[in-house]
Amino acid sequence: MSDHIDKKVNVPPVLRIGEFPANAHALLQARFAPVSLADIDEDDALRERVGAIVTRSNYDIDIALIERLPSLKIIATSGVGFDRIPIEFARERGIVVANTPDLLNAAVAELSIGLMLALLRQLPQADRFVRSGAWSQGAFALGSSLAGKRVGIIGMGRIGKEIARRLAPFDVDIAYYGRSKQALSYEWFAHPNELARWSDILIAACPGGSETRHLVDAAVLDALGAKGVLVNIARGSVVDEKALVQALERKAIAGAALDVFECEPLGASPLCAFDNVLLSPHIGSATHETRLAMAQLTIDNIVSFFASGKAITPVVSA
Ligand code: NAP
Repeated sequence: MSDHIDKKVNVPPVLRIGEFPANAHALLQARFAPVSLADIDEDDALRERVGAIVTRSNYDIDIALIERLPSLKIIATSGVGFDRIPIEFARERGIVVANTPDLLNAAVAELSIGLMLALLRQLPQADRFVRSGAWSQGAFALGSSLAGKRVGIIGMGRIGKEIARRLAPFDVDIAYYGRSKQALSYEWFAHPNELARWSDILIAACPGGSETRHLVDAAVLDALGAKGVLVNIARGSVVDEKALVQALERKAIAGAALDVFECEPLGASPLCAFDNVLLSPHIGSATHETRLAMAQLTIDNIVSFFASGKAITPVVSA
């Protein structure tokens, strides 16, 4: 959206839920000077005028909050996942929900491939090995190659396709599971177990929420097998974390790289005890460039809605 149009549009008070990275925060601040929960708790007239919520996909928007905001027209989340927003309730109330798809595909795909390579080549351990001086005592343990492996992707959507596209030069075979077969050159499996059985590396890249809860369960992990590894950049809820810990204990799988967890931030967890588990703190889209672009689209969604009644990238339209 051009600056010219943007500045002319009158936007009612915007409520910010959650923390944004500094560059995104500055953009939001400059356009909306968003108010906080504390502000609306103190000022009833302000609460009644709030027309928009800006948030990120790591924060819950609960029904009770929406019910407190009689003028709320749009929830704009800076992220593609919307499993923490009560979508059906928003739809019933005629509240628009908008997200920021596509412009984070590259960052999430890059992280997925980074996690995969770091797990297979034990990069965190290799770094510690050199720093600790252990190298002078002997050679570092051998890792596994990515070349020649079968990579199965659960959820061949925008991000899944970007992972697959970026994997092509690594000389791997790719297949996927989703509810429907797409017109793609990759093999499709009708069940996650079948995909896991075929795969050396299984990547979860589907949405979170009740429909995909524990899609990767004990049976899928057993099908992946003792040489197989799991990469989860989807949502923590997609993987049955208890079953994962048990599979790691039983050595039913060879390892896991996880960016997302059932409970975030991850505190003391049995997952931390495994050397063949690589953990990252939900950083799929966390690059300066991507987060700035996401913040700008979040702003544009709100401004576009108040200018024309339509968000640019709605999940729920009015
Ligand atoms: P998308 O384009 O909507 O793709 C989702 C894919 O998942 C589709 O191919 C869909 O295929 C499949 N899917 C949907 N529901 C399913 C179900 N119930 N069972 C099996 N497969 C299902 O979404 P996207 O933009 O690629 O984003 C995918 C997810 O990545 C997001 O929702 C978010 O949870 C996650 N994400 C994580 C990070 C991070 O920081 N780690 C960052 C961004 C996004 P079918 O319709 O054929 O089933």
